[in-house]
Amino acid sequence: MSRTVFGCIEAGGTKFVAGIIAGPDDIRATARFDTTTPQETIGATLDWLRAEQDLHGPLAAIGIASFGPLELDRQAPNWGHITATTKKGWSNTDFAGRIRRALDLPVGFDTDVNGAALAESRWGAGQGKPACVYITIGTGIGGGAIIDGKPLQGLSHPEMGHIRLPRHPLDTEFPVICPFHGDCLEGLASGPAIKARWGVSLSELPYDHEAHDIIAWYLAHMVVTLQSIMEPGCVILGGGVTATPALLDRIRVQADKLGGGYFRGQAADIIVAPGLGDKAGLLGGLALAQDIWTTMTADD
Ligand code: ZN
Repeated sequence: MSRTVFGCIEAGGTKFVAGIIAGPDDIRATARFDTTTPQETIGATLDWLRAEQDLHGPLAAIGIASFGPLELDRQAPNWGHITATTKKGWSNTDFAGRIRRALDLPVGFDTDVNGAALAESRWGAGQGKPACVYITIGTGIGGGAIIDGKPLQGLSHPEMGHIRLPRHPLDTEFPVICPFHGDCLEGLASGPAIKARWGVSLSELPYDHEAHDIIAWYLAHMVVTLQSIMEPGCVILGGGVTATPALLDRIRVQADKLGGGYFRGQAADIIVAPGLGDKAGLLGGLALAQDIWTTMTADD
């Protein structure tokens, strides 16, 4: 049986993963490229997609889930660009436009976290939930919300990592690391913020170290903030920091306390681990490719 085949790109700050994919359980080929310069990395990805297209047959569309920030307004002259990123050499890079011109295919383009959120809501831990949020807590903190199958977007994509937080009473001395906002989530609870305080990652600290409760408390504030805004049916917590044993349980306990029984969603039910593991990013590319393909074919 022939199936529609898509080209998918998960573009990260340290590596790109590209895939030829027909469905979440039908990944036909993948490749990895170090993120060096835009010219080199996007060029290598394009060369690979062209070569794979010769092997697997014509691709229907391309989906790109990329590190940001990004210009997502399809009417904007710089649609498809990575805009003012802290990744050296990548600011104002035309990414999706270059891929579209080179391959002459429709290109779905969104943030890596919106892509992962879409994939998790479609095939992973958020399946069947009316509203679902995916947050990754690692080198940075980012999140995407899916409502009725679509990423939530205002003037631009959400920047959930920069929610402002109160200070934990045992954490008043730490000089926050976000250069933009002072006490924001990423500045207080990301992997680098944890290392800056305690010298090691959270999972390397003893189980009874106060860091676990402090970080869980910050992340629980984020969950309660999300509940206040949209009462999500699930909040999927991924990324390196959340792999710390028992952290999710600590967040659930704190979030229930902070929520004071006010919200419909119970923290024990809505806070979940990702269902797609390390495939969420690449399958985000698939979800974006499928969506642009559906839009284009509906227009015909
Ligand atoms: Zn910030």
